[in-house]
Amino acid sequence: MHFPQSSHSPSPSNHLYSRSGGLGVQLRDAHTTSSSTINNITIAVRSALSSPTSSLLASSLSSPSPSPSRCDCSRGGRAASRCLSKLLDAAPDIVDQCLRSLGPLFAGGAWSLILLVAYVYFSHVLPLWNWSSFSFPAVFITPIGLFFLFNILYNHFKAMTTPSSVDHSLLVIPPNIIELIREERAQRSKRKGVVSHSLYCGACRIPKPPRTHHCHVCGRCQMKMDHHCPWISNCVGFGNIKFFYLFMLYLLAGCGFIVTLTFPLFFWSPHKGTDLWQDHSPFVVFAMVLCGAIFFAIGVMLIMHTFLILTNQTTIEFYHNREMRRQAERQGKVYLNPYDVGYLKNAQAVFGVGRFWFSWLLPAGPARIGSGMAFPTIYDADCADADATADVSTDFLSHTPIATGESVSLL
Ligand SMILES: [Zn+2]
Ligand SMILES: [Zn+2]
Repeated sequence: MHFPQSSHSPSPSNHLYSRSGGLGVQLRDAHTTSSSTINNITIAVRSALSSPTSSLLASSLSSPSPSPSRCDCSRGGRAASRCLSKLLDAAPDIVDQCLRSLGPLFAGGAWSLILLVAYVYFSHVLPLWNWSSFSFPAVFITPIGLFFLFNILYNHFKAMTTPSSVDHSLLVIPPNIIELIREERAQRSKRKGVVSHSLYCGACRIPKPPRTHHCHVCGRCQMKMDHHCPWISNCVGFGNIKFFYLFMLYLLAGCGFIVTLTFPLFFWSPHKGTDLWQDHSPFVVFAMVLCGAIFFAIGVMLIMHTFLILTNQTTIEFYHNREMRRQAERQGKVYLNPYDVGYLKNAQAVFGVGRFWFSWLLPAGPARIGSGMAFPTIYDADCADADATADVSTDFLSHTPIATGESVSLL
């Protein structure tokens, strides 16, 4: 992927700003800046206090001299303040390290819970319904549950192991990268209040393709990054969004399956005189409560991600686009998400184009479209919605993603 050079650019902002969101990056940058500023101030104050001149000045100005107890208090207060400051500085790194270390445990815990529920189905739920594994209703119902179980585990495994990180070998760093970064920073400082993200990653020291963000847990730049999920110990992004979505879909179906089979047992049992709460309560109640809670939690997430996929946004971009929309409204203008090229194309970008409409639901479904380094936009000439750009304010057109530039060689 070739990144644009300023000599080809009609306006530097065309290349140095993208509509894709970078709230996390912004917050991180802001935090770093404020932390370093605080540190500088702390160091300056500390050195001033420790210098002989300032000590003399302090002693000559202090009248009456402070009592030893007050000195102790002030020293204690300063020490506590320094500790607190250091702790706050280190907090994001500590959280990142915890998430990184505990990721495999979370993922292993997810598999354990899923397999435990499968065990409860065979060992407790089927007997409570008075069905053996090969009896008439069970031979129809059990394959449905096994289909859900297989797809849950398959998609979870694929979501865990499919990376979304940028392939550095595909990047061509322009010779004037330092100049571009300076221009970008100058533009960013001018555009106060506008949420934008850098197209250069300071941690990886590489240019970032559009919609890419640096994950501080993974320590890598992730293409079309949505969020870091501890349950898959991986970032949800361009590479695995399809598997993550299908994992949620089949988990919802599997939880609904278990709740449907366990909930009625609390009101009616084929075994006359069986008290579910006493005979089988620990396992069945656990499975039902767990699946019921996951059903509602995943249901909300699934609705949210269905909306995001159909409108071609990531979670990060959703907040960015919302902010841009509000700013445009305040100026009496309309903001359009540049990557929203229609429901069908948006869905195909994630799930691929299959031979049958249900192909994308299957484990060996069609491959996703694109490389993750560039994305079609409403500004592309072959896009049916290209006319929509007429409603976009000129201010926001300056945020044209670099994906549309001729210097991008990979699609
Ligand atoms: Zn990075
Ligand atoms: Zn990550």
